[in-house]
Amino acid sequence: MSFRGRFAPSPTGRLHLGNARSALLGWLQARAAGGQFLLRVEDLDRARCRPQFVDELMRDLEWLGLTWDEQPLFQSTRDEVYREALARLEREGLVYPCFCTRAEIARAASAPHGLSEEGPRYPGTCSRLSAAELSERSRTRAPAYRFRARPGEVRFVDGLQGPYTQDVEALVGDFVVRRNDGVASYQLAVVVDDAATGITHVLRGDDLLSSTPRQLQLYAALGLKAPEFFHVPLVLGEDGKRLAKREGAFALAELRERGLPAERVLGVLAAWSGLGEGGPVSLGELVRRFRPEALPRAPVVAHEQTLVTALELR
Ligand code: GLU
Repeated sequence: MSFRGRFAPSPTGRLHLGNARSALLGWLQARAAGGQFLLRVEDLDRARCRPQFVDELMRDLEWLGLTWDEQPLFQSTRDEVYREALARLEREGLVYPCFCTRAEIARAASAPHGLSEEGPRYPGTCSRLSAAELSERSRTRAPAYRFRARPGEVRFVDGLQGPYTQDVEALVGDFVVRRNDGVASYQLAVVVDDAATGITHVLRGDDLLSSTPRQLQLYAALGLKAPEFFHVPLVLGEDGKRLAKREGAFALAELRERGLPAERVLGVLAAWSGLGEGGPVSLGELVRRFRPEALPRAPVVAHEQTLVTALELR
């Protein structure tokens, strides 16, 4: 199968230079392989997503020259497809309705397990409801749906991070595939969409490395072929925390609107990726320089002062 990569931003804020670096690396990886690169807008979270950010991120990508093939896919239009996937899991007895609130889960979780970023392991409360309890609880609350995590370790080899192992059942427990407001969860949507669009290579920030085992379980349960994964270490701010979308100084739209040449921004992104020294560079030159084995494996720190100098912001 020929190479198909993608960039899948959530339009919850302006793209920053860290997001741009992931987009650039995914794009370079696809183009260097003579493959295709798709754009998917992950706009499931209606409360946090804004059309304005969709427009901006498309203009940002175009400005940098990071073109995409085919029509962008909007997750907000794909509810039907996610429902079909859920129905399939349901037919196989792999999901169940869950009425727990966050507070109930926090109270019920006795074991100090769980992925730090996602709270405690789900203790399985609703997996054992009797028919009577189920109908009782349905009266007052719409359920979320949880996937019954498969026992045992999930192993895969990440293209950048090497072997990775996680016992989803022990660490995360049964996880949400449909939220109680009826919206598909990120984990389900990302799997259904990557499979539906024939994505062969997923390059994304390594904040999602620990989600991958859950996604692999969903690929297996849905009878879908999983892509290869490349988790790039994030770009960190000077405080050692990852860049947030609200950090104005690093917002692409801001730099674009100031009339900066895209080559200067590409120069910074290249320097963060072992592809240059920081000086202005064209996208064409980066395609020539790109080597998949040189993809970054360690986090980089964005120093504001270096950035101001490299981008000639003053
Ligand atoms: N939408 C996710 C984000 O913006 C990325 C999802 C993915 O690449 O799998 O962080």
